[in-house]
Amino acid sequence: MLDARIPSGPIEQQWDKCRLEMKLVNPANRRKHSIIVVGAGLAGAAAAATLGQQGYTVQCFSYHDTPRRAHSIAAQGGINAAKNYRNDGDSIFRLFKDTVKGGDFRAREANVYRLAQISNNIIDQCVAQGVPFAREYGGLLDTRSFGGVQVSRTFYARGQTGQQLLLGAYQALEEQLAAGTVKMHIRSELLDVVIVNGKARGIVTRNLVTGEIECHAADLVVLATGGYSNVFYFSTNAKACNCTAIWRAHRRGALFGNPCFTQIHPTCIPLSSEHQSKLTLMSESLRNDGRIWVPKKKGDTRAANDIPENERDYYLERRYPGFGNLVPRDVASRNAKDVCDEGRGVGPHGQGVYLDFADAIHRLGLETVRERYGNLFDIYERITGEDAYTVPMRIFPAPHYTMGGLWVDYHLMSTIPGLFVAGEANFSDHGANRLGASALMQGLADGYFILPSVVPDYLASTTLDPVDTSHAAFTATKTEVADRIKALVAIKGKRSPDSFQRELGKLMWDECGMARSDAGLRKALARIPELREEFWHNLSIVGGDEELNQALENANRVSDFLELAELMCIDALDRTESCGGHFRVESQTPDGEAKRDDANFSFVSAWEWKGVGQAPVLNKEPLVFEHVPLAQRSYK
Ligand SMILES: Cc1cc2nc3c(=O)[nH]c(=O)nc-3n(C[C@H](O)[C@H](O)[C@H](O)COP(=O)(O)OP(=O)(O)OC[C@H]3O[C@@H](n4cnc5c(N)ncnc54)[C@H](O)[C@@H]3O)c2cc1C
Repeated sequence: MLDARIPSGPIEQQWDKCRLEMKLVNPANRRKHSIIVVGAGLAGAAAAATLGQQGYTVQCFSYHDTPRRAHSIAAQGGINAAKNYRNDGDSIFRLFKDTVKGGDFRAREANVYRLAQISNNIIDQCVAQGVPFAREYGGLLDTRSFGGVQVSRTFYARGQTGQQLLLGAYQALEEQLAAGTVKMHIRSELLDVVIVNGKARGIVTRNLVTGEIECHAADLVVLATGGYSNVFYFSTNAKACNCTAIWRAHRRGALFGNPCFTQIHPTCIPLSSEHQSKLTLMSESLRNDGRIWVPKKKGDTRAANDIPENERDYYLERRYPGFGNLVPRDVASRNAKDVCDEGRGVGPHGQGVYLDFADAIHRLGLETVRERYGNLFDIYERITGEDAYTVPMRIFPAPHYTMGGLWVDYHLMSTIPGLFVAGEANFSDHGANRLGASALMQGLADGYFILPSVVPDYLASTTLDPVDTSHAAFTATKTEVADRIKALVAIKGKRSPDSFQRELGKLMWDECGMARSDAGLRKALARIPELREEFWHNLSIVGGDEELNQALENANRVSDFLELAELMCIDALDRTESCGGHFRVESQTPDGEAKRDDANFSFVSAWEWKGVGQAPVLNKEPLVFEHVPLAQRSYK
């Protein structure tokens, strides 16, 4: 039975009580403890900087050439907090409730409540760091709305919120690098976790410049390595984002939580050619002022501005008058797919809907719209060649975020003692659907506030034998990593890693994407092992392993995607209900909304690895809803 270690007592007091009961490490003893943090995005950089500042000896790893290149930098729209500066009815409880409901009742209440509480500290922390959040004329911090809520609680820095927050975290990290408490290892990719006597005690990495395989020992390991949306090949994530760190940890015994819970974001620039390598997000913040529509008539090929008002279908406003264009992402994405499936999609392939700013420009003026969203309009123009101030943007859903990840308890610890997981890499607090602007909130809550409390408690309450890289477990793990790399290079087949990833991605998009069916998932489950088999016999990698070799790096990552994809389909097949972004076509309400099955599926699926091609074992963490009563979600 999984123990989530949720503190007892009233939910409002659980985190304070937990912090009070946790053990501390004396300041003079902290430098004697070594901590490995893998990842220098928002979650990892915040954790490494804060633990370094506390006085621990921290080593931080990233495959990027600088922490500033972490994917967090791409975050556009904003970060939520329950400050209620607008006095529009917000509160910690409302943020908590919105998040539980938005996640379609598949998240752990205690974690979500803590997240809502900490949200306010994050804004204070970042303002103190000098993060240039947007301000109103009078100097107060400005906010805007995101999907699935009826308050304005999203703090933002134009369309560059992630970049500004990451610079704040990076500054804090730099300070610790200069102070010598943190040592940064760039272009260093984790390829395995080392377990000694049942505890995570180190990692094996590959130096991406020289190809050298290296061992690093510590008292514990934190993974903050981001999400796995690139299993779909086309996604809004940076090309390099991958699942290797969490997947290799999973293979070492860390349970994987809700792998099939993935988020398809409704507002991305549509795919224009199969030769593209990624998709670009248009921030959800645009739905504050943009109106989404398609022509009422099927196959209407007139230019958008030639279609009169009474021949347009503002389908979200029509179907969901309560939330209109700001319904949650899963609902907006499914509706976009439905109108395109009906033959009313726009653009070259009919795979698009309009996001129209004409009303907003008329109401607010061009300058205000430019001020709020200027850089997003610029990105759009650079990619499509169209001026969204004069013609509506075309948007379509795309893979964006993964709610699934390594299972963690209330202390963010995986099922491997001493292996903590933070940010998008854990199965997190978002249930089956993440609300917009909540990922940055969660990553920073984990990094700045939760890990700096739970990590010392682990160190102070655990007996840790002295271990260094000469231990047999390091030698054995290093050999396994080196053998796997040699095996990849030795295949000498005909297909590039990229071509396998494309084929896998298309299969996952078709069968485990926005809609999932029993037949489709079974089809994917039959094909994935075949593709994996072909990969291990027909892969072609140009170049060797003792040098900079991006094809090899990618092959390594694709080999893990080929295993993770299978688990995602198994999970999606097992969960015969629909919930949030997991839409099983067999389980829908008469008007096409996701239909949950609370009697049978109010649990977190935590899967246990049994070997390649072997059936994984399902463990369940029951979910109890005491504060937000279970209800069919309605945004009408
Ligand atoms: C285009 C876009 C826009 C977004 N906008 C928003 C928004 O407005 N608001 C919001 O709340 N959320 C947004 N999100 C989601 C949010 O940006 C991410 O969920 C969040 O930034 C993830 O942070 P992280 O620290 O968990 O991971 P990342 O930022 O992805 O960092 C991962 C780190 O781990 C390292 N790493 C990974 N694997 C390894 C390995 N094997 N070895 C060594 N290092 C490794 C990487 O080098 C990197 O440093 C957006 C996402 C996208 C794609």
